[in-house]
Amino acid sequence: MKKDEKKHRNISELGEFGLIDHITKNVKINHKNTIKGIGDDAAVIDYGNVCSVVTTDLLVEGIHFNLIYTPLKHLGYKSVVVNLSDIYAMNATPKQITVSIAISAKFTVEHIEQIYEGINLACQHYNVDLVGGDTSSSLTGLSISITAIGESKKEDIVYRNTAKKNDILCVTGNLGAAYMGLQLLEREKEIFKANPGTQPSLEGYDYILQRQLKPEAREDIISLFDEIGIKPTSMIDISDGLSSEIMHICKKSDVGCKIFQDKIPIDLNTEKMGKEFNIEPLIAALNGGEDYELLFTIDINDLEKIKDYKMIHPIGHIADKEHGAVMITNSGQSIELQAQGWNQLKDEE
Ligand code: ADP
Ligand code: MG
Repeated sequence: MKKDEKKHRNISELGEFGLIDHITKNVKINHKNTIKGIGDDAAVIDYGNVCSVVTTDLLVEGIHFNLIYTPLKHLGYKSVVVNLSDIYAMNATPKQITVSIAISAKFTVEHIEQIYEGINLACQHYNVDLVGGDTSSSLTGLSISITAIGESKKEDIVYRNTAKKNDILCVTGNLGAAYMGLQLLEREKEIFKANPGTQPSLEGYDYILQRQLKPEAREDIISLFDEIGIKPTSMIDISDGLSSEIMHICKKSDVGCKIFQDKIPIDLNTEKMGKEFNIEPLIAALNGGEDYELLFTIDINDLEKIKDYKMIHPIGHIADKEHGAVMITNSGQSIELQAQGWNQLKDEE
């Protein structure tokens, strides 16, 4: 591609979110039944008695995964899970997926079989059907693009833009472990590069490794909402770190929020790894990413209904927009949340 210096800007000037906004700003919706287009975890199509919910994710070798330490079966499993997570984030049930892969010459039939073992296992586990896809060769390694289709009743669907003042912000599970898992794998990779004979020392780190290599999507939480009769007022899945996802909810809902540092759930394994690596676990929780937990808001009157469920953690509340999105630290300081996320397309600041 020839670059005309005058007219062309570097993509890094916009970053990932800026680029998406830019290329989609003139997109028009022409069908009445497209009730949500770009801008949420999934698009929503209304078929009368039921809605279809559609999302897609692309995983690229060297960007989203490194095959030096990612088992292919795990990669297949994870590439399904990250899509299902976006379906659950709409309070919908995934039903079908399509899988498209581009493969370079270094891969054998057996390699692709391993990826599909993982894909099939995830399909079984989450009860979704693999209904199609596409296969191509590639000059630059492996890419996997998965589209997931889910369904839900129209009135059950939960969006990002409907949080309201005084709602309680909640997160599921714990945060930051997947990031610590990635740091561990990166460390072992560097050690291996320096001394190719060495075996990686990964023993005792099962939890953070599993969170990075074989995450699960929170189907259980969606079932629980149904069981206890809760409809969150807004929801998003946590793929880019808590900070970034909170900012999405606040921006789309035109509100601010206040969260409390001591309420952010961090697993003991994450704390332990943080000490070893000299990484603040809080930073991993706020900016790490790939947790695939759910962040949602509930009406304050529903707080009673969730209080006995240990996997749900109220971390703060929604406030007026003018207050901004802030975190109160353990020492009582109020700091502005920043959306960092995995903004690989943006220049490092
Ligand atoms: P998520 O992190 O939940 O997967 P993204 O941040 O990737 O969501 O995307 C935000 C929104 O922008 C989604 O609605 C997504 O479908 C849309 N989107 C992302 N990339 C493109 C693109 N190249 N063209 C059109 N829409 C896009
Ligand atoms: Mg999402």
